[in-house]
Amino acid sequence: MSSFPLLFDLGPHRPTTREIADTVKAGGTAALTEAERRADAARYQEVTCRSALNRVEGMPFNWTLNPYRGCTHGCHYCFARRYHVQFEMDSDDEFASVILVKHNIVDVLERELDRPSWKREQVAVGTATDPYQPIEGHYRLTRRSLEMLARGRTPMGLITKGPMIVRDVDVLLAHARAASSTVYMSVPTVDEEAWRRLEPGTAHPLQRLRAVRELHDAGVNVGVLMAPIVPGFSSSRDKVERTVKAIADHGARFVGCNVMYLQDGTRTHFLKFVEREFPKMLPRFERLYVRKYPPTEYRKEVQAMVRVLQQRYGLTGRKNADENEKPDHVQHEAEQVGFAW
Ligand code: SF4
Repeated sequence: MSSFPLLFDLGPHRPTTREIADTVKAGGTAALTEAERRADAARYQEVTCRSALNRVEGMPFNWTLNPYRGCTHGCHYCFARRYHVQFEMDSDDEFASVILVKHNIVDVLERELDRPSWKREQVAVGTATDPYQPIEGHYRLTRRSLEMLARGRTPMGLITKGPMIVRDVDVLLAHARAASSTVYMSVPTVDEEAWRRLEPGTAHPLQRLRAVRELHDAGVNVGVLMAPIVPGFSSSRDKVERTVKAIADHGARFVGCNVMYLQDGTRTHFLKFVEREFPKMLPRFERLYVRKYPPTEYRKEVQAMVRVLQQRYGLTGRKNADENEKPDHVQHEAEQVGFAW
């Protein structure tokens, strides 16, 4: 028998996300027999995507790009947890331990950017899961996607909690020469206890801020999002002030914030987490989160407090997420607010 490879060997079949959902529905995640278990104990399933850019409405950007689905950072408040149910997986452990990898995303993106109809609208990278979670060190799909966006002179904003982004400072600078480019480092709090409890798989907040410093010094347009501020964990005046000061000390060009919201699978997961680890706090969360968001007044007070601190520490370059909702007087009143929650 010849040992030459077949001329038309197309390589291993990588299922689409639809096929993944069907497989999991029939046999659970155990049926993903080709998912590779790596040293971090998560399983990685390569999938074939049909589109790289997803159109969105009503956001400050028009398109999103996410090379991975699921996130080993495993933040308990993560709004993307609820998206994992699209693949018939749960928003608890499976969100953080079964990661889908869009192995062909760069080729698909290239085709989409080359279409004559492409208008070079704003693309947000990392809206569903972190584009610099650890597996990016292996696949480099985010890096190659950024190269493609630069080549296509397409404006982009990227959000991450991954200090690995400094690896790609050359690509970020190349992108900034080609189109508008912003990096949003997510640092909800520098409080050690809140970080340890809420974001178990992420780099230490100060490590993220050191990445901000490196990017800033290299010339990247980088700011920080305190997103989300979690009532009772990171919302006290002292914690917010320490965080804003640390952000300013590390050269961020702006800071934004929002207060946690809870929806669908994320709500279920978060309340279970609180019930298990902080049972005394549960009734307060149930009162505060009767709806998806806490009451408007509460959110306004938190955002106003951040705004005051922004001004105090010279971080007034950008607006908070819900800035338009906020009358001016609220920021002054917020000076007086002492948050227990
Ligand atoms: S890093 Fe971002 S995407 Fe990943 S779990 Fe945390 S909040 Fe979710």
